[in-house]
Amino acid sequence: MTEKLYYESAYANAWTSKVMRAYEQDGSHYVVLDRTAFYPHGGGQPCDQGTIEGISVVDVVLDGDEVIHQVESVPTQEEVHCVLDWERRFDHMQQHSGQHLLSAVALQLLGAETLSFHLGEEYATIDLQLPTLSGEEMLKLEQEVNQQIMGNLEIVSYFVTEEQLRTLPVVKMPKVTESIRIVEMKGVEYNPCGGTHVSRTGELGLMKLLRAEKQKGHVRITFKCGTRALRDYQDSVHILDALAQRFNTGHGDIWDRVEKWDQETRAQKMKLDAAMERLAAYEADELVKSGEGGLLYQLYEDKSMQELQQLALKVTGLVDDVVLLGSMEEQKVVLAHSGVNELSCGGFFKEHLQSYQGRGGGQPKLAQAGFSTKEDLVSFCEFAKQAIRS
Ligand SMILES: [Zn+2]
Repeated sequence: MTEKLYYESAYANAWTSKVMRAYEQDGSHYVVLDRTAFYPHGGGQPCDQGTIEGISVVDVVLDGDEVIHQVESVPTQEEVHCVLDWERRFDHMQQHSGQHLLSAVALQLLGAETLSFHLGEEYATIDLQLPTLSGEEMLKLEQEVNQQIMGNLEIVSYFVTEEQLRTLPVVKMPKVTESIRIVEMKGVEYNPCGGTHVSRTGELGLMKLLRAEKQKGHVRITFKCGTRALRDYQDSVHILDALAQRFNTGHGDIWDRVEKWDQETRAQKMKLDAAMERLAAYEADELVKSGEGGLLYQLYEDKSMQELQQLALKVTGLVDDVVLLGSMEEQKVVLAHSGVNELSCGGFFKEHLQSYQGRGGGQPKLAQAGFSTKEDLVSFCEFAKQAIRS
């Protein structure tokens, strides 16, 4: 059995141990110590990392009563010095203790039980037994949790017998019947839990609820605690600062400025659309005037496919000639007519595009194609002009 220092104090982060066993199995290295503060995976909390005699610990699991450390190589000493990656562990303690508090407040305010907890690298989530959670309820939850953090409540843990357990108002019954460990948040809850916790709620610093999503029959809340919440705040202010500078205003006025900017952009878009429409009508007239031999042809520098199609439609609405329009920038062409002509635009493309490394197709009255080079596009257009006019 390994003596579990993380049960005695969650703050033990450097210590000396005796090596009980060190072995290799399937190419991996393992160490068992007489005592350890390395917390194994469990209760929704990921395992600790750190070093044993300078050797990196890559994974920690509990096997019966023994804590097994997977290490990068096996130490040769009998006595080893161990150091936790304290930043990682304290972050876990903050998120995990924060979860206890959030779950307790959700039960107290909304009567909602916690179904599960997940602690990820970036975010932590809990699933609440609730059909929905309104924005107002979420705000109330967040305010109450932070009130309890500022109250700096003591968090203690101890082992109890089954008889003692029956006298406690625990939030849920433990899965084990031996070594029952109670985590008590003074005045808030008694929770059977084997994880690592901060000693006072004040160490959580701050909790920010980021979002609530409806899942199948329950609600998932994503949150950040402590240093994670601070970093999130720092990043958010950084973005707000950049926006405030961009709009030359204060944080409080950013939203108004974005709204105004959006309205101006929409108005400009409408003006631009109207101008494009007039330009297309003008260009269609020009094309019709320049027409010769039953084919109207023009190659533009920078028209989009949508503009080519709009223009082709305008022209075929005016005359029955075949229209061939291209864009050098997009390396695309459109072939169209009003329906009077016997030429199948799609059929023509299908038959001849391949010789010019072009791809495309379409209907008898309208077809489009793209080319991998400008040279291919021009060559195809020259060929099409000859072929359609003859
Ligand atoms: Zn816990």
